[in-house]
Amino acid sequence: MSARDEFRAATKTALARRAAHFCSNPYCLKLTVGPSSVSTQALMSGHAAHIHAAAKGGPRYDALQTPEERCSIENGIWLCRECGVLVDADASGYPDAQLREWKKNHETMVSEVRSGGYSRSLALLQAGRTEPQIAKKIITSMEDRRSLWVTFDAEFPDRVRQSLDELRSRLATIRGELLEGSALDGILFALTKTILKFFNTVESSDLRTLRCNANDPEWMRFSEALAALRKSIGLQIANIAEAHDLKLSNDLQRIAPLNV
Ligand SMILES: [Zn+2]
Repeated sequence: MSARDEFRAATKTALARRAAHFCSNPYCLKLTVGPSSVSTQALMSGHAAHIHAAAKGGPRYDALQTPEERCSIENGIWLCRECGVLVDADASGYPDAQLREWKKNHETMVSEVRSGGYSRSLALLQAGRTEPQIAKKIITSMEDRRSLWVTFDAEFPDRVRQSLDELRSRLATIRGELLEGSALDGILFALTKTILKFFNTVESSDLRTLRCNANDPEWMRFSEALAALRKSIGLQIANIAEAHDLKLSNDLQRIAPLNV
């Protein structure tokens, strides 16, 4: 059997403490420490997992790492036992970049929790669970707005206006469910601003009577503002879809440039 570059005990302890003993998988967040039924003892169910495997042939093994790098804290992530098994059994489903992302986000969240107090802590922990569902809701509310993405319907500016109005109020409702200052909250804020900017640009035009006409400067302004809106919204939903591993419909894919 080949040598394993195991973590030192101090490294494991540091990883556990930096994660506040919670599993770093954002979809899990299981607490990995607690009281045992024996009154003098504690139960530990956490696991200092290797991002790149400790030994040749292991998950995400990187032959270019030195033994020191392999057992350094940078190569570790704190997970519960189940998640430890999961990420090692399906190494290609959990690439090193994703584990590093989990670790970074989790440690950032723990830092915020430490400085934010108890109620904020609970809200932040909860946000980790609810954000994926809210991300899905945002995408769905975009899918429903076909008139925004389908060229044919853009020929009826008033339909676009109505659709954007509905979208804006839907986004405001979704924003109410989010923790202020979270990443998704920031994206929703940006989306709302994008829509407002569009409305400001076309403010002086009567969208009920405006029709497609390349010689009409008002139409051109509307058309350019709509193109800019689509591009901006496209980028933002591509970010959401990528961050939460969501699939976009064909309509949305046309405006959202995914890196796949
Ligand atoms: Zn877990």
